[in-house]
Amino acid sequence: MGILNKKSLFTFLAASICLQSAFSDSRPAVRLALAEYPGYVYKDENGINRGIDVDFACKIAQYAGRTISIVQIADDSDQALHMLDSGSIDILGDTVKTPERTEKYLFSELAQGYSYNSIYVRADDDRFSYGNIQQLSVMKFGCAAHSESEEQFIQWCIQHGFTPDITVFQSNAAVKTAITDGKIDAGIIGAEFVENYRTIQKFSPLPYYFAFRKQDTALKNIIDSAMEKFFMEEPSYKEKLNRKYLTSQNVGIEVFTKEEKQFAAAHPVIKTATWKKHAPFSESINGKIKGIIPDYYAHLSKLTGIRFQFDEYETPQDAEEAVKNGKEDILAFYIEDVGEAAQKQMLLTRVYTTLNAAVISRTASEKITSAAVINVTEEKVKESIAQLHKNITVTGYKNAETCFDAMKHGKADAVVCALPVAVWLINRNSASQFHLTALPYITWNICGAVAPENDILCSMLNKAIQQSEPYMESILSAHTIPENSLRSFISRIPVIGITIFACIMFFMAVLLASVLILVHKRQKEKAVIEAVKAEKERKENELASLEKNTETRNIFFSNISHDMRTPLNAVIGFTSLAIKQTNDKVLRDYLSKIQSSGNLLLELINDTLTISKINSGKFKLNLAPVDSTDLISSLIIPVKEAADQKGIILTVDTSGLRKRCILADELNIQKIYLNLLTNAIKYTSPGGHIEFTVRNDVPGKFESEGIVKDTGIGISQDFLPHIFEPFLQEYRSGKEVSGTGLGLSIVKDLVDLMGGTIAVESKLNKGSVFTVRYHFEEVDPVCLSQPDTASASEQALLAGKNILLCEDNTLNREIALAMLEDRNMTVVPAQNGKEGCDIFAGSKEHDFDAILMDIRMPVMDGYEAARTIRSMRRSDSSSIPIIAMSADAFADDVQKCLTHGMNAHISKPVNQNRLYTVLCSLLCKQKSGK
Ligand code: ADP
Repeated sequence: MGILNKKSLFTFLAASICLQSAFSDSRPAVRLALAEYPGYVYKDENGINRGIDVDFACKIAQYAGRTISIVQIADDSDQALHMLDSGSIDILGDTVKTPERTEKYLFSELAQGYSYNSIYVRADDDRFSYGNIQQLSVMKFGCAAHSESEEQFIQWCIQHGFTPDITVFQSNAAVKTAITDGKIDAGIIGAEFVENYRTIQKFSPLPYYFAFRKQDTALKNIIDSAMEKFFMEEPSYKEKLNRKYLTSQNVGIEVFTKEEKQFAAAHPVIKTATWKKHAPFSESINGKIKGIIPDYYAHLSKLTGIRFQFDEYETPQDAEEAVKNGKEDILAFYIEDVGEAAQKQMLLTRVYTTLNAAVISRTASEKITSAAVINVTEEKVKESIAQLHKNITVTGYKNAETCFDAMKHGKADAVVCALPVAVWLINRNSASQFHLTALPYITWNICGAVAPENDILCSMLNKAIQQSEPYMESILSAHTIPENSLRSFISRIPVIGITIFACIMFFMAVLLASVLILVHKRQKEKAVIEAVKAEKERKENELASLEKNTETRNIFFSNISHDMRTPLNAVIGFTSLAIKQTNDKVLRDYLSKIQSSGNLLLELINDTLTISKINSGKFKLNLAPVDSTDLISSLIIPVKEAADQKGIILTVDTSGLRKRCILADELNIQKIYLNLLTNAIKYTSPGGHIEFTVRNDVPGKFESEGIVKDTGIGISQDFLPHIFEPFLQEYRSGKEVSGTGLGLSIVKDLVDLMGGTIAVESKLNKGSVFTVRYHFEEVDPVCLSQPDTASASEQALLAGKNILLCEDNTLNREIALAMLEDRNMTVVPAQNGKEGCDIFAGSKEHDFDAILMDIRMPVMDGYEAARTIRSMRRSDSSSIPIIAMSADAFADDVQKCLTHGMNAHISKPVNQNRLYTVLCSLLCKQKSGK
């Protein structure tokens, strides 16, 4: 007999057991040899040892506190024992005890497992069914020669009251051939099953053990202790291993017998009882019964060829009654209770599924004192719960839904039901609200139940159930996992998930709102910016048109003042010449007065221009060396004249005025004083007094000071702060106001431009005091204008000089001619710039000593004429002095003349002395080659 050729329910391991303390982890693994055998010892696709014997061995190793190394060996007892002898293994498993072996080896006290002998038939032979001893008495058997099984079989048959008909063959192969050939019905073999054949009976179990070398008593003791402990603590483990590894494939396929096949043919439809609202197991939906049970039976139907027709009864009891009284063939769902079934005279099928119990509660932490259960399971639950939780009251309800409702509405703390039912309930309802826990100590074995006369049906179902076990799992899942609808999806989301989702949505909404507000704000801001931009543009346009207007006005003022100044030039110029022509004192006096008034008028004209220029920001000071005393004395005459005329006493105090050569804008300083003085005259009644004090000996930052003090009408305190604002005039009842209100505004602007200050003090009806303070830069007196009477050297320098005079205005030309000839110069007149250029071009080089050039002329103006002359290819074109003579006498006008190639500028009306001085200076420079 092969010691290792028999396998059975249990296996074991080999391992060194030892008290955990006695062996350290560093000890080598105990080597255990196990013989290869399907279902017991084999390697899976990953090369890992699997099988009942392997698992059992590992379990015992755990109990022994040791590690093992399993060596798979061939099913050859001699070779295996030799390995044990040689020490290449420590334990040999699957060893049958014989007297000889007991002498030589030690064996474990408890059996590692049992190996059976068996009777096997052709897999498709439907004449014989499993476990029917009666059928054996008429069968023909065969067995291999020298088989130990033969004797054991004979003994076993005798015990069962018959003698078997056995033919002995050379080998097991010959036995199989004889079966195939139909010479015999079955084979006898010392194995549990034969591949591709079907076992119909097992007999004479033979224990097998772990074998050790004689000297390894310690190891044997460890294994014995571990096995003892294991069988005590896990009595059902062997069964689990059987379920796990023994499939129809390795125990032999069960086939339906002839009788069973005949039954199926005679009963194509089997009436199957179930009860209402038994979801998820069975439930009528639209007149069709659906659920786990119908699906499972549909699968059984495929194997048996029987169609199961479901009928629903009100209660489980009604369904059971229908089976008992023959109305129905089978009760589809029955909680296995063999005793009860026997009492009720019902036959039970194999268990087709084992259901674990589970608890659904409202919260995980809630203390459970009452449980709702489905009626059918009530007793079992009560029993199981009573063992562990004495204080729980169990109430039965019709079905899973009513249980769940009871729990939901607080009638019970929890629902206790089968796990698939619990999963189904949870998924049908809002999963997140409830808590589910498994109750592993409560299980229900589910089977079918039939009337005793339906034993063939029962046997057919058993065979079908045996092969259908794997299908149940998937059917359970399919019926308890929720359908993927939106509603069920939402219901599965936990409350916390929904809360988080809601928070995120809220946050997103706030974010979106913020973004929208921001966008709206931006748009508003943009609109405001656009409006501001548009307003700016409008203002710019306005400004541009204002500037254009100003420019137009400036041009107009400039033109009109030019036109006014031209005749005035003649008045002043000829007066100046006339004075020199007469020695008549009275006549000279008159002429002087004409001259002064002319000058005053001229300045008034210039005022108009000044206002215009200042307002447009184009006003520039015309700084030049000035004699500080001349500056004042020249303006006194006209003012005094006016004061005299009005009967006002004008006192001029220049005691503090030292003769200094200062760099100043003479005309504009005079304009400031003229304004203040004419105002004083204007606002002082006849008989009043005006004091004009000028000095330049004041120590400090502003060394020059001019004070105009009058005893006039004065200025109110309210008006004083506004006195320098343009166009403002104080209203005096009964007093006519003349003027424009621009005078003081110009004064203030000019003083500011000169870097000075102006202050006013006044008392109504007492008088006013205007104080102007300046600082002037002092320059070399050489630069000063020459006195009226030309010096002898100047006269000598100018005499005989040849001057080209370009002037379109006849009067002006005549005046200039007279002034030049007065110094014995020769003058060649030209009526415009073009004529001047032609004359110069036609002249001999250096024939002319200087050119006097008017600016505003027809045909060709002075600027172009100067440029043309400078560009001529002749040796004197660049050196000849060109002096502009123009009524346009602002600093920018002067600058413009210089940039067009002219050397100097003389303002009109032409001051005779200035004309000579400038000419002298330029001729001097030319002479010295500068
Ligand atoms: P206008 O004299 O042309 O009206 P001004 O700008 O020169 O303009 O002067 C502004 C105003 O200041 C005058 O209208 C006048 O009311 C007041 N004012 C100026 N100077 C005096 C002064 N010396 N005495 C009294 N009031 C004066």
